[in-house]
Amino acid sequence: MVPNRLPRQITGALVAALLLLPVPTVAGPESLDGVARLRLASLADAMYDGQPSWTVEAERLPELSMLVEHIAAYIDEEGYGSGDVPSEVSMQADFGAQRSLQSGRYYPATDVVELNERFLTDPAWTDRPWLGVLVHEMVHAQGYPVEAQVQLITMEILATMANDGYPGALLELTDRLRRQAILSAWWLAAYEHDALPTRLATTNPFPYCRMGCTPISGDTSSVSETRQAIYDPAELRRALARERFWLKRSQRDYDVVLGSYVAEPLGVLLETACGDGLESKLTRDDSSPPIFPSVDDMRAFLKELAWC
Ligand SMILES: [Zn+2]
Repeated sequence: MVPNRLPRQITGALVAALLLLPVPTVAGPESLDGVARLRLASLADAMYDGQPSWTVEAERLPELSMLVEHIAAYIDEEGYGSGDVPSEVSMQADFGAQRSLQSGRYYPATDVVELNERFLTDPAWTDRPWLGVLVHEMVHAQGYPVEAQVQLITMEILATMANDGYPGALLELTDRLRRQAILSAWWLAAYEHDALPTRLATTNPFPYCRMGCTPISGDTSSVSETRQAIYDPAELRRALARERFWLKRSQRDYDVVLGSYVAEPLGVLLETACGDGLESKLTRDDSSPPIFPSVDDMRAFLKELAWC
């Protein structure tokens, strides 16, 4: 069933705040680590280009209530949750002043997940995948408050769904991977970080520019060149607009935002999937014991991609 025709309110599972994945800007020699990220972006992009469009894939999705149950089951099977579904999931959230900032949100007090209504109503958004946003918010609903942890789990769940052949999952996974790889390379270059983080935070950082935003001090030109080669003109235009929004109008520190939503989860994910595994624990807000991330589906996918 087409999501647009779905009932707006659905009984089911849950969610949390999610971000639009932004994209980069200008200039310079980035670290070897950044070069590696760009290679990853190219590999993911090649697979992404072989996928049907999101508009096509969305037609294959079951109706929202069933989709929510399926995602909850995947999260449970992978050992990241209890299989609970949120009490309500809706795709009609009008986020007002946050309409360009927020893709979705989970409200723990009411166990409600809301996705930005623009995914279904705004012609500029209807070709944007939202499956990953739904998974992200449903991971929050399993009791995970830390964004970097939720982002990592989301990628593993998407990989699980993609490996299982679930509609739209491979498209979403490859799209996220290429974007996150490019953004990570940009983050490394722009803010002169030495390498991607290899530990997961246990609390969310404060993302606002209290004392002024972190200035861009590095040269991002080579990242920009690669980005230009990977994105088609429309994607690049949108990416640059997103970047301007984050840097100039979001009131958030883009260094912090990219660090916690993109660089940290990607760094830990790649280390865990392709290396010996990390000691990172996932923390939930109840009395559940900490969970050690298992990313076997991402490992299989990254091997298929010839990354590890
Ligand atoms: Zn979130």
